[in-house]
Amino acid sequence: MNFGIDDLPVRDELRGKSPYGAPQLDVPVRLNTNENPYPLPDELVERITERVRAAARDLNRYPDRDAVELRTALARYLTDSGGHRVGVENVWAANGSNEVIQQLLQAFGGPGRTAIGFEPSYSMHALIARSTGTGWISGPRGTDFTIDPAAAARAITEHRPDVVFITSPNNPTGTAVAPETVLALYEAAQAVKPTMVVLDEAYVEFSHGASLLPLLAGRPCLVVSRTMSKAFGAAGLRLGYLAAHPAVVDALQLVRLPYHLSAVTQATALAALEHTGTLLKYVEQLKDERDRLVRELRATGYDVTESDANFIQFGRFADAHDAWRRILDRGVLVRDNGVPGWLRVTAGTPAENDAFLDAVRDLKKEWEHSG
Ligand code: PMP
Repeated sequence: MNFGIDDLPVRDELRGKSPYGAPQLDVPVRLNTNENPYPLPDELVERITERVRAAARDLNRYPDRDAVELRTALARYLTDSGGHRVGVENVWAANGSNEVIQQLLQAFGGPGRTAIGFEPSYSMHALIARSTGTGWISGPRGTDFTIDPAAAARAITEHRPDVVFITSPNNPTGTAVAPETVLALYEAAQAVKPTMVVLDEAYVEFSHGASLLPLLAGRPCLVVSRTMSKAFGAAGLRLGYLAAHPAVVDALQLVRLPYHLSAVTQATALAALEHTGTLLKYVEQLKDERDRLVRELRATGYDVTESDANFIQFGRFADAHDAWRRILDRGVLVRDNGVPGWLRVTAGTPAENDAFLDAVRDLKKEWEHSG
């Protein structure tokens, strides 16, 4: 009895598709999902325990549906770090920025509507578009992986999408997007009808430049999305958030499930936000390690794309998947994002990065001997 998905009445657009899945393999060095490599400090673990213990008593009740205390704390963090005043009415939060993106597409995409992204980029934008019935348009990116504003604006003018995704720094390439490019695409998108522009800043804390949060001023269709999964080192928490015009927050309330953020999630995130300084202290070290990886990879003879994130795209390989496998054979898990010729490595601890560098130097030697 081989009963499978295709024997079920699943939606046509899901047939034959694979789920999103970075391999979760048990290997010594895991540098494949852009996490922060450092466990949470003891003082924060204590504070989370206290907050969650207090919340546990009230688990007989539903949590605060509007997560007001948490959104207020997130607004304070954005205001303090982003160079732009953000209030609770501008902020929305959900279970990871993936859920934020899903809610955006539920509200502004959907059947009969389309979204565009400039690829290669974060693959979940397209996958969430598909699962919300939103048509997907693959927009252009240059051979150096930057967005050419004129070419991208032409694609927007041609396709008239309902949602435009811009990822800065971009995943998997690491490239940051200039504010002028975001402005040009915003203008192109608004030319005929109000169109949502989602600036995905999941990795912005690692950037050489500043957040583009100040661009929100006077642009009600711009959304800046963020996450606690990367710089905050809290991927397991599942907390993503956005800043936008209050009307955007009102629109998202129409599609969010009631009580979508559990009391435990809200308590944990609040504890983490009390410790922003402690959590973000690793950011500078990770940026230094990223820059060291770039230098060492180049010195070893690899090509590297400029990175503003906590990961690096490196290559070029005649067969990237074969190279991925050979690096894995040396105990180091990196990411094959399906970009022909390139792989991606996350900056880990200095020891993890050393193990990665040993593996790729070794690979280079192996090829030199065989070639
Ligand atoms: N945006 C980008 C660009 C990402 O790379 C990721 C995670 N890989 C996310 C959003 C989603 O992160 P999370 O759901 O953990 O907040």
